[in-house]
Amino acid sequence: MRVISGMRPTGKLHLGHYFGVIKNWINLQENHETLFFIADWHALTTAYKKTSELKENIREVMLDWIALGLDPKKSLLFIQSRVKEHAELFLLFSMITPKSWLEWNPSYKDMKYNLLRIQDLEIQFKGGIRDLIKELTSRLPYKVEDFEALEDMILDELSQSLVRAVFEGYMESHILKELNVSKRDFYDTDTYGFLGYPVLQAADILIYKANAVPVGEDQLPHIELTREIARRFNYLYGDTFPEPQAMLTQTPKLVGIDGRKMSKSYNNAIYFADTKEEVEQKVMRFFTDPQKLRKGDPGRPEICPVFMYHKLFTQDEKVLQIEKDCKSGKLGCVECKKIMFEGLERFLEPIRERRESLKQDIKHLEELFEEGSKKARQIAIKTLEEVEKKMNLR
Ligand code: SF4
Repeated sequence: MRVISGMRPTGKLHLGHYFGVIKNWINLQENHETLFFIADWHALTTAYKKTSELKENIREVMLDWIALGLDPKKSLLFIQSRVKEHAELFLLFSMITPKSWLEWNPSYKDMKYNLLRIQDLEIQFKGGIRDLIKELTSRLPYKVEDFEALEDMILDELSQSLVRAVFEGYMESHILKELNVSKRDFYDTDTYGFLGYPVLQAADILIYKANAVPVGEDQLPHIELTREIARRFNYLYGDTFPEPQAMLTQTPKLVGIDGRKMSKSYNNAIYFADTKEEVEQKVMRFFTDPQKLRKGDPGRPEICPVFMYHKLFTQDEKVLQIEKDCKSGKLGCVECKKIMFEGLERFLEPIRERRESLKQDIKHLEELFEEGSKKARQIAIKTLEEVEKKMNLR
């Protein structure tokens, strides 16, 4: 089975990347034909105004991938923009992809939504419409003045999705008004490239005739779109592409030092490039059970991020004891964090060392990816030739 996946080069990788993505990739490369690429063109869909760090970011991803255990002997590791055929297939696919498929793609809408910094909004539609609106408005960082007008817009019998759509539309215009900017100024992402990036993704996958793509649940609509494009192409020009399957991976959501999802933008991440001292400082700043103010107070490990890390990095036999001692109050948070730091360092230290040694010969590292890109290109050229013949371009 041929498996493909990519990652945008947004900078140094952190623990969240490892547990959410890379760990799974490392397992996959043992039993499958795997292709992993640095999606530098995709980085431009949202960050096209700021490319000064792009080269450096690509280098950081290369360093982290290899240091973490992706092996160029087992996986084809390459850089998207080195394989120009992705762009050509993207162009050909864009000829056959209805615009509405992209505009209604939930990920596209979601991403725009995320950029409005309201991604934490999860609607629990349990009560009536009024409860829903109340719940939503209570999460806004400001008061919604014309709340009643909004209520009037929504009728009780409307479906949840329609309510969402109405509400999102309302919030969008409301936020733009608050920020006193026009829609065009605010939406850096209101570009052709951003709208069309799922088509580029389809080209990334189908040019290798991949059978499977490891994804999280939020990426499922993209894979479905890729499958639809493959079906449409096959229908129009004859059987060419397999329909790739989504390989759903259940990964633990790793929280950052403040208890929220680990993310560069929250400034709460632990990076593989961090020094031992930096990691220690971050661990000591970790969010804990707010009810446990001092040693002696009983704690709740089940809600404590530090304990989540113990389960990942501390030896099993110690974890049970830590749980017990936290609950009884015998263990203080400072001591608890010190133990967690030891386990975390056991994991991070060899990665850091590999990273440092790779850094000594960046040229060699870059050559590995150039070599991978050449190999990937050989496959891509073959597919594109077939596509062009089917479309009577050759
Ligand atoms: S003792 Fe450890 S597990 Fe318990 S609240 Fe403190 S840091 Fe969390």
